[in-house]
Amino acid sequence: MKIVLETIPVWDGLKKNDECFLCTLMKEAEKDALSYYLSSAIMTPEVRVETNTYGFCKNHFRMMAEANKPQVLSLIMDTYYDENNRLFYPDLDRLSQCRKPGAMKKLVDAFERDVREREKGCLVCTRMNDRLYRYCYTVASLFKEDPDFKKALTLSKGFCVDHTIALSRIAKDALSGDDLVGFCNLIFSLLRKSIERVQKDDLWMTQKYKSENKDKPWNGCEDAQKRAVYKLIGEGEVYDPIDNKKSRI
Ligand SMILES: [Zn+2]
Ligand SMILES: [Zn+2]
Repeated sequence: MKIVLETIPVWDGLKKNDECFLCTLMKEAEKDALSYYLSSAIMTPEVRVETNTYGFCKNHFRMMAEANKPQVLSLIMDTYYDENNRLFYPDLDRLSQCRKPGAMKKLVDAFERDVREREKGCLVCTRMNDRLYRYCYTVASLFKEDPDFKKALTLSKGFCVDHTIALSRIAKDALSGDDLVGFCNLIFSLLRKSIERVQKDDLWMTQKYKSENKDKPWNGCEDAQKRAVYKLIGEGEVYDPIDNKKSRI
């Protein structure tokens, strides 16, 4: 499969010098995917089959509910409920008519199983995941092809923990041999260095609250506690992509 490189967004992301520019790009990808599913695109029958079949994870359903697009979201929910009813009404009818405690437990288990199965997959997460793959593939390819990129990457703040792992896994599709090993060495040493730096910044923030340090400079550590959190947990996370669940259509 030929992967189209995302050279421009990746270079632009790197130049921002954030703690993890993949997080920054993924937040944009999330915004784009949410805008797509909250647009007139949902009027097309194919897209409605997708929204009815897969829906969205709880996180992205919540974001859609808060996006203030009542007309589009009401249309999505109307037919999503139709599909829910087809799946859940038989469970609910059996549960409301059951008279035996043992049978009731089995029916509750069956209902919960159906609910959890229904919650699997998210169209927004899947779009984000597709983009994450292309971004990671591009970072690995540019590491090999573009010496300026390699130099800038070496001097960068690296990536959050999850995106470091994603990069190391996807890099094997773009690189091999010494290039692959060199790339993984670099991104893990960047993670090691950045964890150390972020913790040091966080420590300075703890010291700044002592009265003797009140008038000392912040040294760029005003948001150290937040960076300490996001280096670990990342932002713009993919929760539950659809991946190979296409057979559910
Ligand atoms: Zn990240
Ligand atoms: Zn999602």
